[in-house]
Amino acid sequence: MSLLSDLAFEARNTARSVADYVSGNGLRIGVTGLSRAGKTVFITALVQALTARGGRFPVFRAAAEGRIVRGYLQPQPDDAVPRFAVEDHLAALTVERRWPDSTRRISELRVTIDYERRAGWRAGPASLTLDIVDYPGEWLLDLPLLGKSYAQWSAETLDASAAAARAPLAAAWRGHTALLGEDPPASEEEARRCAELFTSYLRASRTDLYALSTLPPGRFLMPGDLEGSPMLTFAPLPVSGPPRPGSLAATMERRYESYKAHVVKPFFRDHFSRLDRQIVLVDALSALNSGPAAVRDLQNALGDVLGAYRAGRSSLLATLFRPRIDRILFCATKADHLHHTSHDRLEAILRLLVARAIARGEAVGADIDVIALAAVRATREASVKQGRDALDAIVGTPLAGEVIDGETFDGLAEAAVFPGELPPDPKLALRGDGLALAEGDNDYRFVRFRPPAVSAEPDAALPHIRLDRALQFLLGDKLA
Ligand code: GDP
Repeated sequence: MSLLSDLAFEARNTARSVADYVSGNGLRIGVTGLSRAGKTVFITALVQALTARGGRFPVFRAAAEGRIVRGYLQPQPDDAVPRFAVEDHLAALTVERRWPDSTRRISELRVTIDYERRAGWRAGPASLTLDIVDYPGEWLLDLPLLGKSYAQWSAETLDASAAAARAPLAAAWRGHTALLGEDPPASEEEARRCAELFTSYLRASRTDLYALSTLPPGRFLMPGDLEGSPMLTFAPLPVSGPPRPGSLAATMERRYESYKAHVVKPFFRDHFSRLDRQIVLVDALSALNSGPAAVRDLQNALGDVLGAYRAGRSSLLATLFRPRIDRILFCATKADHLHHTSHDRLEAILRLLVARAIARGEAVGADIDVIALAAVRATREASVKQGRDALDAIVGTPLAGEVIDGETFDGLAEAAVFPGELPPDPKLALRGDGLALAEGDNDYRFVRFRPPAVSAEPDAALPHIRLDRALQFLLGDKLA
């Protein structure tokens, strides 16, 4: 993209934001997080909260004060971006009682909210147009690539793969790379083999067992529409100095540069830079459950995510895009796996992780809040007698095939489980004490529950934990 078209784009962008600013009624909210963090479930619940009647949202003031007249879906305004399939996802949750298909690419949805302004000189009817943009968090981690050469990225990625937590997962790829010998010649077959092994390593670090955060390139795990494209057929190689023409390293370098120019830049310029607010969903429980390496990794990933919001304020990247994000909300999702006594603790842990990530760089230039929530609450709480004691339990319908105490569940029967307890001091959790395991429960892991039984009407209210706090932070001032 030439400088001229970059400038033209910037001008269009500015014009758009000025128009929005003058009318004061448009807001673009980005929803992101690594794969399985809970984006699809969150957006479906958020849209349902805004468009259906009957949910309970005491902290979301516009709703609690009865000032929301109606919320309704409107045609998605950007022709080049797929629409978020909210109807399908809602039907999966409510009619079939299964979790919807997860985010694999960018999508968008427009909701308009008609509301009454609060009493005062501005009192009266108004409306807010909300564009919700769902995109894989993996793509955000690509931003640092823009400032790195192929040689730099290769060296860093090879280094990271030698760390104790990653080395066993990377062994096949590293072994293959080592066997290539010094400066091998270009070969399509070899490029493909290296890319396959490298991608398998990235994928292995993201399984339930390891729950390590993702390393770039983000599209290797979340290719979106680029599945199978030659632009994704490269991998790091140990290189010193500029690659020799005709070498495998030269092919890899060319593809790496194409990836930056044709994939990374357009995403930041055309989508990311247009967001006003951002919500970052984090599956902190899985990381805590997997141990200190996963938690450290998560903290690094949060730092990289924050780096994307900082960029443009102070760096070279300012010429490419200028984020205008004024609020960022970090949410620890799936809090319904814990008893409510641990919700504040989960929040405190994420707050500490985010604070450490912030401390690594300069100010982000946006208001930040942290919430532990469940967009869709699949469990309820109960007290279960064991001998003389009454123990805090959570009750839900385990997914078919889940095994608890040797019993395999069929997806219909309910079960009470004793959730792990988070330590009261968040520093302990980050040091690796993680979840305090229920006694005798050595291989503790979360039971996966089915979504709750609710009315199958399109208007159904979905149970949640603290979704109203998220709504208040994201929209409260715009609906005042
Ligand atoms: P995405 O990859 O970020 O779009 O993640 P999804 O929204 O598809 O969520 C991934 C999985 O996490 C779902 O299939 C559910 O199993 C689980 N999940 C997400 N949100 C919740 C929640 O609020 N409560 C519970 N219990 N599970 C959730």
